[in-house]
Amino acid sequence: MGRNLDPACRQCRREGIKLYLKGKRCDSPKCPIDRDHPPPGMHGTRRSKASEYGIRLREKQRLKRFYGLLDRQFSRFFKLAARSPENTGEQLLSLLERRLDNVVHRLGFAPSRRAARQLVSHGHVMVNGKACNIPSFLLRVGDTIRVKTRNESLTLVRNNLQDTPQQVPDYLEMIGTEPPEARMIRLPSRDDVDPRIKDIREQLIIELVSR
Ligand code: SF4
Repeated sequence: MGRNLDPACRQCRREGIKLYLKGKRCDSPKCPIDRDHPPPGMHGTRRSKASEYGIRLREKQRLKRFYGLLDRQFSRFFKLAARSPENTGEQLLSLLERRLDNVVHRLGFAPSRRAARQLVSHGHVMVNGKACNIPSFLLRVGDTIRVKTRNESLTLVRNNLQDTPQQVPDYLEMIGTEPPEARMIRLPSRDDVDPRIKDIREQLIIELVSR
């Protein structure tokens, strides 16, 4: 392992998956994970075949790490999803997308979910006109998400919007730029999940957790 590897990248390497913690760098050829795992066929395969359990566990870890959840938080979301009459896997993904830190990142206010969590917990974001410093806050249809009108908050978010603009998903709409503000116009569906985790096989996670 490279001694000078960024701590965030080191975490990805430890997990063996891309956690998208470094914003722009994660989608560039500089990502060490992409460098480590060239397309199949280039250097042969070193990994042994994983067990069924291992495959399911890996999917769960990937989803958990992608959204930055601890085990306890994941269990809470899973229970919420299981209580719904809808498909549990799709509900789980929809709930994760509705987290305030995820929405702040998908709006481009922060370059990664980790940075979004920091932005929220440091008090730079308001929900429905009130300060909200809870990254796991679950947004509802009609909720507004706005950056605080203080210089520090505005400068930070303006820079992020410029440096790492995101494709705003259809379930959100920008309603203001000064200060940046958006609204959740409907609940996110399976199709709205972040493209970087869209290939997740949520059914395998449900099978693992429901055993
Ligand atoms: Fe580093 Fe991002 Fe690649 Fe992870 S995904 S290794 S944080 S560049």
